[in-house]
Amino acid sequence: MIAIQNVSKLYGQTTVLAGISLTVPAGTTLSLIGPSGCGKSTLLRIVMGLITADEGQVAIDSEVMAPQNRLALRQRMGYVIQSGGLFPHLTAHDNLTLVTRYLGWRVDQENQRIGELCDLTGIDETLLARRPGKLSGGQAQRVSLMRALMLDPPVLLMDEPLGAIDPLVRYELQNDLRSIFRKLSKTVLLVTHDLGEAAFLGDRIALMQEGQVIQDGPVRELLHNPATAFVEQFVTAQRSPLQDL
Ligand code: ADP
Repeated sequence: MIAIQNVSKLYGQTTVLAGISLTVPAGTTLSLIGPSGCGKSTLLRIVMGLITADEGQVAIDSEVMAPQNRLALRQRMGYVIQSGGLFPHLTAHDNLTLVTRYLGWRVDQENQRIGELCDLTGIDETLLARRPGKLSGGQAQRVSLMRALMLDPPVLLMDEPLGAIDPLVRYELQNDLRSIFRKLSKTVLLVTHDLGEAAFLGDRIALMQEGQVIQDGPVRELLHNPATAFVEQFVTAQRSPLQDL
């Protein structure tokens, strides 16, 4: 479970997060959505322990994050970002084994895990000899997902993982991600700016505006019972032009 309690963050005089509280129960997916600049990535980085909140706390499976357990907690979370975040000078394989090597895994253990993850994510193992620049955007994101899953963390944090992927591949990856989340029962916090994707992948949606959560619930509540005029505008603005044809 991810428990975010009253988290606030200021950059200079600007309040970027203003008392955010959110819970992601174990084995469920919460989609975090909202306009650009509303604080989604900042919140995800705080959960990952990459930056610290000015107020409030984050707990992973009831363990409150603090300086002394931050690194250990990070190993219980997989993190995938829009650009993939793979090291360009390393092969895909070496990107996957960076942390396991540091942790002292044997090569046969690494190979077994990589084989399992290739099956899960649909990556042909021969592609792993390539550097990220020689992979398509979709392949690189599958490798990023593999890297996030290497240690089999209970929690996945995903920041616009499909944001830079073209529509056909994106559609395929959305389907694959949904089945992977369900199969592995991961606890997932996923940032997207696309309401359709948020609804497809998330059990719940939290809509943010200017550093606050405005509404948190199933997608039909946002659609049929918007908490504020902003929620209604946001939902309407995301309507597909195809619906009007
Ligand atoms: P989102 O992910 O919703 O687009 P971000 O969390 O990236 O939003 O950013 C929220 C706000 O915080 C933005 O106004 C952004 O400019 C600001 N911000 C983010 N990181 C920093 C930083 N390191 N220093 C100063 N301001 C920042």
